[in-house]
Amino acid sequence: MRTLKDLVRPNIWRLAPYSSARNEYSGSTARIFLDANENPYNKPFNRYPDPLQKDLKQSISKVKNVPVESIFLGNGSDEAIDLVYRCFCRPEKDNVVAIEPTYGMYKVCADINNVEYRPVLLDEKFQVKAEQLLKACNHFTKVIWICSPNNPTGNNINHDEIKKVLQNFDGIVVIDEAYIDFSSQPSFRSMLSQYPKMIVLNTLSKAWGCAALRLGMAFADKEIINLFNKVKYPYNINLLTQEKALDALADPFEVDNWVNRLLLERDRLISAFRLLPICEEVYPTEANFFLARMNNAQEIYNYLVEKGIIVRNRNKVSLCQNCLRITVGTKSENNELLGALRQY
Ligand SMILES: *Cc1c(COP(=O)(O)O)cnc(C)c1O
Repeated sequence: MRTLKDLVRPNIWRLAPYSSARNEYSGSTARIFLDANENPYNKPFNRYPDPLQKDLKQSISKVKNVPVESIFLGNGSDEAIDLVYRCFCRPEKDNVVAIEPTYGMYKVCADINNVEYRPVLLDEKFQVKAEQLLKACNHFTKVIWICSPNNPTGNNINHDEIKKVLQNFDGIVVIDEAYIDFSSQPSFRSMLSQYPKMIVLNTLSKAWGCAALRLGMAFADKEIINLFNKVKYPYNINLLTQEKALDALADPFEVDNWVNRLLLERDRLISAFRLLPICEEVYPTEANFFLARMNNAQEIYNYLVEKGIIVRNRNKVSLCQNCLRITVGTKSENNELLGALRQY
């Protein structure tokens, strides 16, 4: 059984992190800040933002029901994905295992960090058995990536299989739940205390409607969060993002409203797709998008581009031949898409 120390790159375990001026000072009696070479003019932008985003984490803690010390905030989930490699994977030595097809960033970050990436093909229902993921591992496997609901397929990965992976793999298991707010399944973040080597990713980019803010969340045991905090850029979340994210989190009912509307639109759009002669199959989805197998994805994609409508062409992705990934838009956007496809 590998401990956390066995999994972390030795240079990262030993790392003495950069200590910023805002890190070293804590307390509420300070009135005059002459410690960080900031300009005293141009408030509030003259001051460095909180490196550990305490106010924002308190708000997220309430909304997501996760203790503050189990929260890492990144410049998008993409920062957390990259940190997983930088903290755990020794270049040219360690490897990671992931379901295939899935979100492209896991592979791109593996390539950037020079870490071997081992894809395990999903079955025809876009599911995977824990056994197959475990079979792909060896002693150098540090991380298993599971995206659920999965992108681009849209379905949840079977929870019992994910639990088997969590129970039987002694490395890091990352569960990317970027689309969890659209899903009928509960989040794995409620099981953090049971699985100290699990990392759950959430984001403000999808259901929360804040892709431009760049705010991703990683939930994990505080030892893993401390590692991430050591390796991240000191001021990775800027002031404007911290403030705007606080505003967004103050109104979770608005998000429920969007989600309900999008799910209704999604089901209407899917029913209409199933009636299109050019559509061969629409796959079950638990996200704000769906995967549709067409009779000629490339040509239909090009035709839609001509009409100014951009969908995601997944034709070249494993198991997704002739598939388009359609994000659910507003009612009128969806109607325009359907109108164009009916005229094709
Ligand atoms: C969209 C998406 C994300 C979000 O990434 P951000 O960097 O937070 O915008 C993460 N994972 C998956 C699978 C996604 O589809």
